[in-house]
Amino acid sequence: MKTFAMLTSGGDAPGMNTALAAAVKVAAEAGAQSLGVRDGYRGLLRDQLIPLAPRDVDAYWQRGGTELGTARCPEFHDLDARKTAAAHLIQRGVDGLLVIGGNGSLAGAAALQALIPDIPIVGIPASIDNDLGCTSMALGVDTALNTIVQACDRISDTARSHRRIFIVEVMGRDCGYLAMASALAARADAIITREQNKPLEQLVEELGAIAKAANHRGKKRVLIIKAEGARVPLTELVAHLAGDHGFAVRTTVLGHMVRGGSPSFRDRLIAGRLAFAAVRCLLDNQRGMVGWEPVEDGGAPTHDPAIQRFSFARVLEETQALLSGTHPSTIRRLRLLDVGQRVLPM
Ligand code: ADP
Repeated sequence: MKTFAMLTSGGDAPGMNTALAAAVKVAAEAGAQSLGVRDGYRGLLRDQLIPLAPRDVDAYWQRGGTELGTARCPEFHDLDARKTAAAHLIQRGVDGLLVIGGNGSLAGAAALQALIPDIPIVGIPASIDNDLGCTSMALGVDTALNTIVQACDRISDTARSHRRIFIVEVMGRDCGYLAMASALAARADAIITREQNKPLEQLVEELGAIAKAANHRGKKRVLIIKAEGARVPLTELVAHLAGDHGFAVRTTVLGHMVRGGSPSFRDRLIAGRLAFAAVRCLLDNQRGMVGWEPVEDGGAPTHDPAIQRFSFARVLEETQALLSGTHPSTIRRLRLLDVGQRVLPM
């Protein structure tokens, strides 16, 4: 009987639990045993693995966060620590490892894979920021977007009542996807992202003009969505935006609220299908990350037509390009944002 270890690592994301529950079920149906690793790579270092049967994870399906736990584990950057983790996997007779996590977790998976070439590692992308290459969606993105749009709708109610400019800051340290996508759906008047890279003076001038035009048209609220990673501090923006445009300025930082919550329909669907493809890869002794409808060429087919498998090296390379703004996806996202702003009457 094959044994697969499974862990969730890095920032938690809605859909991690769904993917884990699905993976345990698919493994069991294939006659394989699952071991859950506590708290990501930290649990591998401490040899904290527990058997998981489908009945143990049944209720995980619709829960946010990660029931297995996650942790930042800086020790994993050290070769000796990874050797310890590898030894624990070998001692337990593990035949494959499933890593559900973001950019850093997949870098960790690549580094660990180099030490255990005979034990396949497969990654499932999970990151609310959608900051990973070789997958058009990562787990958690859709749920986070729904949460942001709902929050913006509520903020808009109070903003309209008081004639306010609201600047809503959303998560996304290195990638403004959440801000860009939610701005379109929430009918924001403006968006500030790291990718646009606009200096404070330009932003203030543009936003001031938007507010004035909104006032002129009789609009009662101005909604500005700012990505966490955009370099301009919120306090400076507020100080500079206070002017004679007819609105008072307020800010809201949505922060960790956006991470939590029961996974959306789309996150559950993607999680289940990625987990199925990932476990099939492990059973076939294949390694790398499984990506949902990737835009990149050269992925290997999987048991699901929407999913392709890429080497960890390729995923990390494409992710770097995505974060540096040179990736076709980033350019496409900015172009779509531009089109979206024209199409939607903002
Ligand atoms: P995320 O997976 O959400 O991007 P992190 O960047 O915090 O989150 O990464 C999660 C964990 O992955 C880290 O705490 C560390 O244990 C491991 N990790 C990250 N980068 C590397 C790396 N280059 N080499 C080895 N392990 C890494």
